[in-house]
Amino acid sequence: MKTNDGSQKNGIATAADLVVCGKIFTSENDRIVEAFAVKDGKYVYVGDRKGSEKFIKEGQTQILDHTGKGLVMPSCGNGHAHYSMGYATHSVGTIVGGHDDVDKFLTKIVPNAVKKARKTGATSIFGFGWSVMLFTENMPTRQQLDDICDDIPIYFADEEGHKGIVNTICLVNAGIMDKDGNVLKTEVRGGEIVMGDDGTPTGFLKEQAGTYVRSFLDNKKLFPVDIAKENMAKIQEQMLSEGYTMYMDGWSPYFYNDHLYQAARQVDEAGDMHIILGLSYEIESWMNVDEALAKADEAQKYRTTHVLPNWVKLFMDGTVEGSTGFVDPLYPDGHQGLANWEEDEVTDITRKANAKGMAMHIHTMGNKAVNRCINAFVNGGKDELRNTIVHVRNVNDPDWQRMADHNIYSTSGMIWHHFPTGAPEILKTLVPAGMEDKSYPMKSYFDYGINVSFHSDYPALSGSPDDPFGIMEISVTGVMDPEKESPWWTEELITREQAITALTINCAKQMFIEDERGSIKEGKYADFLLVDKDVLSCPVNEIHTAKPEATYFEGKKVFSI
Ligand SMILES: [Zn+2]
Repeated sequence: MKTNDGSQKNGIATAADLVVCGKIFTSENDRIVEAFAVKDGKYVYVGDRKGSEKFIKEGQTQILDHTGKGLVMPSCGNGHAHYSMGYATHSVGTIVGGHDDVDKFLTKIVPNAVKKARKTGATSIFGFGWSVMLFTENMPTRQQLDDICDDIPIYFADEEGHKGIVNTICLVNAGIMDKDGNVLKTEVRGGEIVMGDDGTPTGFLKEQAGTYVRSFLDNKKLFPVDIAKENMAKIQEQMLSEGYTMYMDGWSPYFYNDHLYQAARQVDEAGDMHIILGLSYEIESWMNVDEALAKADEAQKYRTTHVLPNWVKLFMDGTVEGSTGFVDPLYPDGHQGLANWEEDEVTDITRKANAKGMAMHIHTMGNKAVNRCINAFVNGGKDELRNTIVHVRNVNDPDWQRMADHNIYSTSGMIWHHFPTGAPEILKTLVPAGMEDKSYPMKSYFDYGINVSFHSDYPALSGSPDDPFGIMEISVTGVMDPEKESPWWTEELITREQAITALTINCAKQMFIEDERGSIKEGKYADFLLVDKDVLSCPVNEIHTAKPEATYFEGKKVFSI
């Protein structure tokens, strides 16, 4: 007969596969325990050391004593990032370095990419990473690219992935021009086809004009399922080494097909998926919404135990620092920024997506864009679908309570607390009044009882920490480098316990898996970390140096140093 703690009355308990002792933060109401026992991948006991002894059977139970070595905690989640895009652009594209200028681009980088493409019989040439700052004065033209290669479509995206440089055949394939040089299309919603003095496209495409033209590349061949599978192994290796076992991918059909979805399912079916992977289907503002929603819905067929393909992603606005975020009050020069979507469109998409069981995941920065998303979620959404706003630089006061009331979630990055000393002075000239020393709130979410998770946005925020402990330190100190910089928006700093909560159980909630993961609790999967430092009590500016000594997923060690 079993007692409450799973042990048997005669004193011999179910033999556990693993018993772990030490200082254990459970992410269950900040509870700290001394030990837990794991059987068949799940926690069968969580409590004091004495209680765990009943689960130890010699020769059968492995004992890990982490006492005095650091902290044991649930493994972490990354609520929004682009590992898939980061690895894909490197494996199928030509990388342009951030310091490479236009001359090097035209004389070395593009010719080499063309040579390689001819050798391999490639049907498109894709590149990534040129610097807008370095290129802007002297932007390469389609004619210059044509001189290097005029028979294979060339598309080079900038470092942020929103702008593109193309040759003529690329524009012809996209129906922007015909072969004789006649212009067929001058506008793409949410973007700009930059025109030259002769009235034809220069080959420079901004924002959604870039994604539109890129969608006409031979993406099926460019990004095959096999490459996606290879990347999945690399992504997992990186994430597990950092302590993540949950990941929301922020733009899954980056190559406008379902290859990443197929790859994820195949990897899981082969028993090689050691994270929970959330996939989000991005709908661009130039797409036919109903067709795109149907495709997003169809992608749900790739669901497996560890692959969750049930999010719809929208891109609402740019960045406030870049003065493309949608804001109120206006920017110092009097403009408002742009939103890619009207409110009734977002309401409609939310209603349709939620009706099909898909949750919304919307990239949104400016307070006006945030307000628009919240209105859409309130008016079109189902509260139980945990529609999520992503990034979120500023929130209007009344919107906090509305988020709480309607179960609207947020996932936020902490890099923005790493603004250099004096940043507010510079930002005064760039962002609306009152926002120069306030960006990316954190504590308010906890105060209002709103579910907030952390994300790294990897690799989009270069220079920011990708790992949980780098993010954690910024969220409790307001700085990334305490020696050099002063803290940012200290009213919004959170406690270490709150930071771990945002990294663990709150990410599990965002992914609808909190009944099975995200905290150390009997009955849940044993996804946990042995951290080499006690990040709850070490000096605060050492938190970022903490590393997982080992990462466990479903009771099995999937990473160790
Ligand atoms: Zn992102």
